[in-house]
Amino acid sequence: MKRRTFCASTLALASTSGLSLKRVLAAASIPAGIPVIRSDGKQVTLTASDVTDLKGGIRGELLLAGQTGYDQARKIWNGAFDRRPALIVRCVGAADVSQAVAFARAHNLLVAVRGGGHSLSGQSVCDGGLVVDLSAMKSVHIDPIAHLARVEPGVLLGEFDREAQFFGLVTPAGTVSHTGAAGLTLGGGYGRLTRRFGLACDNLIGADVITADGRYVRASEQENPDLLWGLRGGGGNFGVVTAFEYRLHPVASMMYGGHLMFSPEDTPDALRFFAGFAADTPDELYLDAALVRVPNLGRVMVCDVCYSGAVQQGERVLEPLRRFRKPIQDALAPTTYVTLQASGDVASAAGRGYYERSGFLHSLEPGLIDASLAIMDEPQAAGDIVFWQHGGAVSRVKPDATAVWHRDAARSLLVDADWDDPHDEHARDVGMQWARETWHKLEPFTDGFYVNTMAGDDPHQRVRSTYGGNYPRLVKLKDRYDPTNLFRLNANVPPSSTGGRS
Ligand SMILES: Cc1cc2nc3c(=O)[nH]c(=O)nc-3n(C[C@H](O)[C@H](O)[C@H](O)COP(=O)(O)OP(=O)(O)OC[C@H]3O[C@@H](n4cnc5c(N)ncnc54)[C@H](O)[C@@H]3O)c2cc1C
Repeated sequence: MKRRTFCASTLALASTSGLSLKRVLAAASIPAGIPVIRSDGKQVTLTASDVTDLKGGIRGELLLAGQTGYDQARKIWNGAFDRRPALIVRCVGAADVSQAVAFARAHNLLVAVRGGGHSLSGQSVCDGGLVVDLSAMKSVHIDPIAHLARVEPGVLLGEFDREAQFFGLVTPAGTVSHTGAAGLTLGGGYGRLTRRFGLACDNLIGADVITADGRYVRASEQENPDLLWGLRGGGGNFGVVTAFEYRLHPVASMMYGGHLMFSPEDTPDALRFFAGFAADTPDELYLDAALVRVPNLGRVMVCDVCYSGAVQQGERVLEPLRRFRKPIQDALAPTTYVTLQASGDVASAAGRGYYERSGFLHSLEPGLIDASLAIMDEPQAAGDIVFWQHGGAVSRVKPDATAVWHRDAARSLLVDADWDDPHDEHARDVGMQWARETWHKLEPFTDGFYVNTMAGDDPHQRVRSTYGGNYPRLVKLKDRYDPTNLFRLNANVPPSSTGGRS
């Protein structure tokens, strides 16, 4: 059992040394020594005094193992990661973030940064290190006149959409409403409106950042524009963003969308038709296709649809796809954007186990279609294959205008495995093995990948190549803003001092 240090001697020390009451109260729940993992992987012990100082210096909470709220706070969306940080600093403002970062830097701790907690690779939580937890920072302020939003890093997409849509405005983001805006934006941000308005990061016009030395830096077109460039797709490499400023766009709240499902017999032809049809659609149309196995039915194709222009125009645009083969489920209808954004929430519920591999596609070529159908024809297929649509406004931005290099990608290929009970090791092994084998067969069709869908076992070389010609500039930024690689749990761009090693 851990020894507690709060005793008469602590009070006596407080009265003689003039420590604040806050520090005394903070000391009440701190164990004598806390083992922590440093960024070099070594274990050291923090003294109670160190940790008491940290706790006394923040406005939010410091959560340690065994304390109320700790087990809840260490959970992230992907239940496959059951990690136990030594310290979770639940920040409520930029000052807390600065304090947590300075503390981590001073003690050379392993640091994870958590926004919405949806990291597929589990990197927003770590074993033995310090988590800068931003999930309590929830404010969204919409300026309906200037069409701007200021959003804190704990905000989820559904929360942001709700506020912006109240004013008939939107910024493009993802496709599942419980995803965090922070991590999504920093890695790029593809969603139902990105073909029309660009990536989420293309609409990021300013950010408040706490850099690795605990300093506040403003990033905008006017101040530190190089940093803004890096935050637009370069992920969490350069600091902790405590506020995001986005450009907003007016949209009608009623859109046209939902899903279509094609029978197992029609799926091969429907997928081939889809490949040509979806290659040439208006920017207002978002259309993806997934091959999934449905119990008692077999392998089917399901399309997710959102048309953000006029409803009647959407009906006309989708007609050829509906007419080519009659869907066995046709759930396209006029609906609100907010409803569409929440339509995938249950299927991607938090707490289950997930594993994903992904890569960009230039086209849906016949060889890829045939290989994907053959894989999903197998009754033991333990996951889904998704063809996620990009293009449109995303591809009209130059590759070196932001950190996102692969602007010409038409789609992403996603290979997904999931299992209900994250502690079921058999289900996990079956799912992950299927996904890895499937990926091995399909990876040759891909070129680069989206860093926000990185898997825990993706090799670092992939990160380097996906940033393409932007990589050297990202390294320069890293050297400037995080020369010791404090922020390494991400799609890491190591500073040159490490010789390129994460
Ligand atoms: C169910 C689901 C649906 C998804 N759908 C989409 C989609 O439609 N489109 C899309 O583009 N992506 C999508 N993604 C991927 C998503 O963009 C990433 O998982 C993203 O990292 C989530 O952000 P978060 O804040 O929730 O994640 P977190 O797990 O909190 O953070 C992920 C990483 O982002 C960095 N980070 C987070 N916040 C900050 C901050 N404030 N400052 C600095 N670094 C920070 C850290 O490196 C952290 O490790 C989806 C993911 C899931 C799980």
